[in-house]
Amino acid sequence: MTYRLCTNIALLSGVGAKLQLKLKKMGLESVQDLLFYFPFRYDDFRNLVSISELKNKAGEDITVLAKLQMIKNRRGWKSKKNITEAIFADSNGDVLRVIWFNQSYLTKVLHPGDMVNLSGKVKLDVIGAQLVSPTYEKVSMNFGIDPTSILPLKREEGQDPTLYPSLKIGVHTGRLVPIYPTTSGITQKQIRFLIKQVISVVVDLEEWIPDNILEDYDLVDIKSAVSGAHFPIDEINLDTSLKRLKFGELFTLQLKGELARQKRQKQIAPNIKFKETEIKKFVQGLPFKLTSAQKKASWDILQDLAKDYPMNRLVSGDVGSGKTVVAGMALLNTVLNDWQAVMLAPTEILATQHFNSLQQMLPKKIVIGLLTKDNIKLANKNMLETSSIGCKKRIKELVANGGIDILIGTHAVLSADIIFKNLGLVVVDEQHRFGVEQRKMIKEKNEGVHFLSMTATPIPRSLALTLYGDLEISPIDEMPLGRKKILTRLVPKNKRSEAYKFIKEKIKAGRQVFVICPLVDEQEGNEKKSVLSEYKKLSQEIYPDLRVGYLYGKMKSAEKEKVMAKFKNKEIDLLVSTSVIEVGVDVPNAVIMMIEGAENFGLAQLHQFRGRVGRGVHQSYCFLFAETDNIDSIKRLEYFEQLDNGFKLAEKDLETRGPGEVYGKKQSGGMKLKIAKLSDKALIQKARKAAQLVILNLDNWTDKKFKQRMKRLATGVHLE
Ligand code: ADP
Ligand code: MG
Repeated sequence: MTYRLCTNIALLSGVGAKLQLKLKKMGLESVQDLLFYFPFRYDDFRNLVSISELKNKAGEDITVLAKLQMIKNRRGWKSKKNITEAIFADSNGDVLRVIWFNQSYLTKVLHPGDMVNLSGKVKLDVIGAQLVSPTYEKVSMNFGIDPTSILPLKREEGQDPTLYPSLKIGVHTGRLVPIYPTTSGITQKQIRFLIKQVISVVVDLEEWIPDNILEDYDLVDIKSAVSGAHFPIDEINLDTSLKRLKFGELFTLQLKGELARQKRQKQIAPNIKFKETEIKKFVQGLPFKLTSAQKKASWDILQDLAKDYPMNRLVSGDVGSGKTVVAGMALLNTVLNDWQAVMLAPTEILATQHFNSLQQMLPKKIVIGLLTKDNIKLANKNMLETSSIGCKKRIKELVANGGIDILIGTHAVLSADIIFKNLGLVVVDEQHRFGVEQRKMIKEKNEGVHFLSMTATPIPRSLALTLYGDLEISPIDEMPLGRKKILTRLVPKNKRSEAYKFIKEKIKAGRQVFVICPLVDEQEGNEKKSVLSEYKKLSQEIYPDLRVGYLYGKMKSAEKEKVMAKFKNKEIDLLVSTSVIEVGVDVPNAVIMMIEGAENFGLAQLHQFRGRVGRGVHQSYCFLFAETDNIDSIKRLEYFEQLDNGFKLAEKDLETRGPGEVYGKKQSGGMKLKIAKLSDKALIQKARKAAQLVILNLDNWTDKKFKQRMKRLATGVHLE
């Protein structure tokens, strides 16, 4: 029997319609999916011991090979569980008690006389050693060796692995046993069985990395790597296998990045020159002095715009570092060159805020439009009006005939029927909040246009290089002068009323407060419920004499805008909100950020919330309330209390929660690292170097298969 990578999983032995469906839900449909479905850990059951040794092995993971003497089911009189009891004996005549819970079918599978490998943790009680629910595996005696004579060997480096006998012991026991991520209804044994079934008979799992790169980076071939990642002979074999697979994954990403860069640099971009006089005037007209990081980022952008191929740059700077003004300069320079620009924001609130602040910032002659799902506005200071023109058709006309210089909006702007006369620059603010699909669409719709993205979620450099191979980065790693440190406190339960009192004093002194509601799952209705109950509590019980408002994502936009405007105008003292205000919102008079259920948020996200305050001259505060006593959660929040560096917090998040959690689930499609880790910094560097070298010499490659693969990469289809 042979299989190909594309062979449907349904053709494997043991896969019926039911199992096929379950596997499909896990994303496993073909032999290839299966082979590249890797364990997340390995249980070390290589410690093969005899029964008499067990009494010294309490709590250890071991494997015992023994003959089944007796097996029977009974019902637990207290727990009402089905209990299977068995007695095993080994060649020395020692006996061992084993029990399993709720697996009464075992009496049909295991029969007295069977030689069975049992892997599990040793439990000692008054009678002696016992194994509770060990993994079992019948051992066939056809190997020509007596399995009971096998001792726990450790292979020396360089020694031939095929000589190492534990390989012959089992799939599920007596070895480094792979443990896979699985969902209910599929057992570890089933997954192992399926992988074992195909791993040695798949015929087209072919090496694709050129020989010299394998050699240079000391990598094993793909076949042995896949095999070693599932069923490692030992740690050395496991390490070399994982290294090869990680490298392959990172190398692929880097190649894609490099190919995208090459493609971009061959495109022709709008010619946008540096308008020195006007830009200088703009900078001088600002109510503050730019920080040197802001200057550097602006200069990077202005230089990119002047190149003859499109810019692809990310401005990455902590909350409050002043990214908007940098974008403003890029927008202005574009318009001064008679090109149009568009700026996208993830929420209506933020788009509206940008619309307002850019109106203030930019010269009067520039016409700015706002387009969100149901809010359409136009600003032209020459006309001295900000009118709701209430008509998408009109905005479309103006965009199409060049009557609008800058269009600001949410993803509504992406809809196919908005066509620009001459679009020169796309700015995406808080780009991490846009999903992968949306970002792809923005890019595809605007090929050959300069592209600037901004994010306040700090992206460690290693991550950026991995995930966005084709990207220049301008960090804004410096805060405007005179910002005060935001005092952050995790408030213990018994200090809550004190905190409420403190908040009231600040409000009496004229300040304002944000209250973030605990995270609820994002189903419609839940968000609203959580906000309204917090609103009710604060407005009726705690602060009946204060002005409390509320905000959530699914509110009508006119309503949202009204609330935000009221808050900005100090007509609301406390604003209860969901995470919709997470990004970008700028209200300098708000000095307290109060976060309920803080343990539910990631550190980077908490940091974003905290960044909503501390934007003015007043001392600002962030109060965290936790609903848990879990030590790890509390520790995490205490870490947050101490640290106000967004990069460090994001790195910590990455360590503990992984990129999908940190950078948003929506994005995770763009960060599907199957096996490599973002912490593999050295390997990332190597893969990057190798990819650059390959791309540089692309025309000299003679390896046909590799060339084909590169073609597929360039068009987005790729294996591994
Ligand atoms: P973010 O990087 O989070 O988008 P913003 O662009 O919203 O930050 O800026 C935060 C606040 O800081 C705004 O009120 C802005 O006017 C102000 N600001 C920006 N740059 C400076 C600067 N160089 N000095 C002082 N204040 C600044
Ligand atoms: Mg911002």
